[in-house]
Amino acid sequence: MKHVIIGNGPTGLVAAEALRRLQPDAEIALIGDEAEPPYSRMAIPYFLIGKIADSGTHLRKSHDHYAKERIHLIEGKVVKVDAQAKQVEFASGERLPYDRLLIATGSQPIRPKVAGMDLANVHTCWTIEDARAIAAKAKSGARVLQIGAGFIGCIIMEALAARGVELTVVEMGDRMVPRMMTAKAGNMIRQWVESKGVAVHVKSGVTAIMQKDGALMAKLTTGAEIAADLVICAAGITPNTAFLAGSGVAVERGIRVDAGMRTSVADIYAAGDVTEAADFHTGKPELNAIQPNAVDQARIAAHNMAGGEAASGGSLAINVLDTLGLISTSFGQWQGVAREQGGDGVELIDDANYRYLSLQFKDDVMIGATSIGWTDHVGALRGLVQTQAPLGDWKARLLADPTCFMAAYLATAQKAA
Ligand SMILES: Cc1cc2nc3c(=O)[nH]c(=O)nc-3n(C[C@H](O)[C@H](O)[C@H](O)COP(=O)(O)OP(=O)(O)OC[C@H]3O[C@@H](n4cnc5c(N)ncnc54)[C@H](O)[C@@H]3O)c2cc1C
Repeated sequence: MKHVIIGNGPTGLVAAEALRRLQPDAEIALIGDEAEPPYSRMAIPYFLIGKIADSGTHLRKSHDHYAKERIHLIEGKVVKVDAQAKQVEFASGERLPYDRLLIATGSQPIRPKVAGMDLANVHTCWTIEDARAIAAKAKSGARVLQIGAGFIGCIIMEALAARGVELTVVEMGDRMVPRMMTAKAGNMIRQWVESKGVAVHVKSGVTAIMQKDGALMAKLTTGAEIAADLVICAAGITPNTAFLAGSGVAVERGIRVDAGMRTSVADIYAAGDVTEAADFHTGKPELNAIQPNAVDQARIAAHNMAGGEAASGGSLAINVLDTLGLISTSFGQWQGVAREQGGDGVELIDDANYRYLSLQFKDDVMIGATSIGWTDHVGALRGLVQTQAPLGDWKARLLADPTCFMAAYLATAQKAA
């Protein structure tokens, strides 16, 4: 059996290792198009802070790991999948045959289509190569403009602040992390970062970037102009699917997969950030580009590529952020559902101490939660959302005092057990 995996990030690697355990005699090829050993993008902030060298981002630390596991690493860009011939084609024109193919090509950052995005000191922050360029330029005192205050934007802010830069953030939404946090939570995070000296412009976009007086000048939709030595674009991501044109693999925003990570074409599977998989709550296809989902899907895909029958329960939104030391989380349907659909919720707001809790229910099940400033027991929030245990009397108690979520989790988990 020849397994070919396109993409050597966490998804591709976890799938390759799982396949090796399941099929000791199979051939496994793991293809990546970056000139690096398999590495973790999640480690990039630690590299930017200077806590680790670039080797610290490598997913496996020993040099002979891949030889021992008999995982054949191939560096090259796949430009085409020929599903009829069961071959992948590289940019060099070479072809590699497969029996089963896994697409684990992740995402790439979106660069807004505005003038100046291609200037020398404008970077995205997605690859280790991007991080090396940013580390060389984000020196103490440098003026840095960050476009986007979403998940990645908030994560890298800590590293940029630690480098001593003068940071300005521009966000199109009306608050920070608008697609992951409630309005109150997003505004509380904004107040926190402003109190740490970061300038934040919400409801603002960049319309052009130009060279001025030896630096960069960004024009905003509000008319404001911001001078910067370095611009970092963290304006969202999009799945890497262009090479699938003509392959027959169904792609909408990402690759459509069933619960077994099978695509619309026989013997082709997909997992990780590149997929549009069923959401845990709604069952509707959603992009959910976070690592826990990616590696869960990798294991399921590997199991099925090896002839098994594994199924995903759907991907759950799990967001944990450390923004300049302020810990925030959101889980599941954190935005809640309408009252007509059985929706109900409670918010606890403590502005002075940067503490916040929002619990969302559908009938007597907790479907989502958002927290700020809670570091103890936040796993219980995820547990309540993920187990979907009926809360019974606990719902009224949580509505009266949302801070008792840990006790509610223990009680409902014990009852279910
Ligand atoms: C700075 C940063 C911080 C992050 N922090 C977190 C966090 O705290 N928590 C969290 O859950 N997630 C975090 N993420 C997101 C997380 O890194 C992704 O969810 C994860 O990397 C997805 O893994 P993947 O293997 O599906 O894709 P990727 O890691 O993107 O790997 C895909 C690989 O495929 C390769 N590839 C693409 N196209 C081709 C092609 N045509 N031919 C050959 N190879 C190709 C790519 O070059 C890449 O090496 C962070 C991301 C960044 C950038």
